[in-house]
Amino acid sequence: MDQRRSIRGTLFCLLFISLSLLAPACGFAMGETRGGAEPPPSGSLSVSFIDVGQGDGVLVQAGGTNHLIDAGNIEEGPNVVDFLRSRGVSALDGIIVSNPDADHIGGFLDVLDAFPVETVYISGDEKGTLTYNSFLRSVRAEGAEVQLVRTGYLMDWGGVRVDVIGPPTDAEGGLFSETNDNSVALLLTYGSARILLAGDAEANEEEYMASGSYTGPLSLLKVTHHGSNTSSTPLFLNRFTPKVAVIQVGADNSYGHPTPETLDRLRRTGARVFRNDEHGDVIVTIKDEQLDVAVTKGFQAQAENPPTIPANSYGFHR
Ligand SMILES: [Zn+2]
Repeated sequence: MDQRRSIRGTLFCLLFISLSLLAPACGFAMGETRGGAEPPPSGSLSVSFIDVGQGDGVLVQAGGTNHLIDAGNIEEGPNVVDFLRSRGVSALDGIIVSNPDADHIGGFLDVLDAFPVETVYISGDEKGTLTYNSFLRSVRAEGAEVQLVRTGYLMDWGGVRVDVIGPPTDAEGGLFSETNDNSVALLLTYGSARILLAGDAEANEEEYMASGSYTGPLSLLKVTHHGSNTSSTPLFLNRFTPKVAVIQVGADNSYGHPTPETLDRLRRTGARVFRNDEHGDVIVTIKDEQLDVAVTKGFQAQAENPPTIPANSYGFHR
């Protein structure tokens, strides 16, 4: 964590990878620029995959609004707070609990201490753990509104359309038996860009989403469940084929995430894959139909060995 903070604190060479969302056939353009993590440009959608080790933490910023989806394990709290401040956050319009496991909610305790939070979005899949109970106590102390969200719930985050596309409503059969499959899944639409953030969804919830009405190519996918082999099913990747995929994963984690099979399935989609253990914070900015990826680690190796990407692999299909 300290090392990650010092990376952010110093002006660091960021690798930028750009892709036009409108050009029918285009590859990535790569370049380098100098700068640390900083507030997003105006008129943009920024999605930051914070390096929280083995866990999830995604900051979405658009039109002056800030939403945080998950916050990593409890020891990552100061790291997440530090990142949010570096991105100009002084208050959160909402926090979203994708699922109540410790690697998603632990860091929220420090976040709730550091920032006013207006609304907390949850799926309603409760967990009686000490961490979740502490989280609920903090939410009550904060006085934040708690909103239960399932498929069909629609939000506007500063001009970004946000559709909740999982877990199922009670009318559709209600929650699945496994917590991971009840992850709050968010589909963000901004111009022609489509971004899917679906927490730790595994095969059941992926199949549910794949057979729903929100399918289509994605500009950006947060790879489900840290790249486990029980997620990123062929059906799901076929219905939600990403151009850019980000895996939130810690180095040398005991789960073996991401698995070689998942990496192989992602590679076959043609997606450009980023991962927190190799690239540090992964910051995606979408502005004027252009998607830029900036990373805080591992840029040298990539810049020296730019990936060979077929020029026609990244056409954006609406
Ligand atoms: Zn997780």
